[in-house]
Amino acid sequence: MNNLRTASHADEKIVNHPGVFMHPSPQEIGVEECAFSTTDQLLFSDQTRTLCQRNSCGQFNSTWACPPAVGNYESCVMKCLSYKNVMIFSTVADLKGRYNVRGWHEARVRHETVTSRVAQQFRTHRPDSLVLSTEGCLVCDRCTYPHEPCRYPDKLFPSVEGYGIIVMDIVIKTGLRYTHGPETLTYFSFILF
Ligand code: SF4
Repeated sequence: MNNLRTASHADEKIVNHPGVFMHPSPQEIGVEECAFSTTDQLLFSDQTRTLCQRNSCGQFNSTWACPPAVGNYESCVMKCLSYKNVMIFSTVADLKGRYNVRGWHEARVRHETVTSRVAQQFRTHRPDSLVLSTEGCLVCDRCTYPHEPCRYPDKLFPSVEGYGIIVMDIVIKTGLRYTHGPETLTYFSFILF
């Protein structure tokens, strides 16, 4: 577990709980790095929501995983702060020779698969934990938004940025690596518990 790092005030009971990560280990699931911290260390900004509204990712107002469906900025911050601890983990894709849209998409699909496995394992211990991941949602071919409820709320992992979290800030605070070099992609997910 070389890549498991613990930042300030994390819930020692869960950090040291062998069942959370040992079978299988984070590396076996596909996690590159992983760290624990507390939600009071998270930095929020409504500027992330402004970026969402510019819709450069194309997901704004098109899925239950992103604004405005996730609720307003204040309610997202309050929800995050209703949890004490946060686990941050990354996956890394080496895209040398295929640093293109298809490579990015495959890397994101893999990250969401890893996030789903970690979430499933984690929720056996903390069923009410909040899982946040990359923009949008890849679960269904066509999202039900906005006319019908989400088909799979347990598989829906809202966007970290949509919740107003500055990812780089907590990544640096916890000593994780934000990038892994040229022609690589690093994605992050958060589990609040
Ligand atoms: S699980 Fe399906 S219905 Fe729910 S947000 Fe994702 S794509 Fe949309």
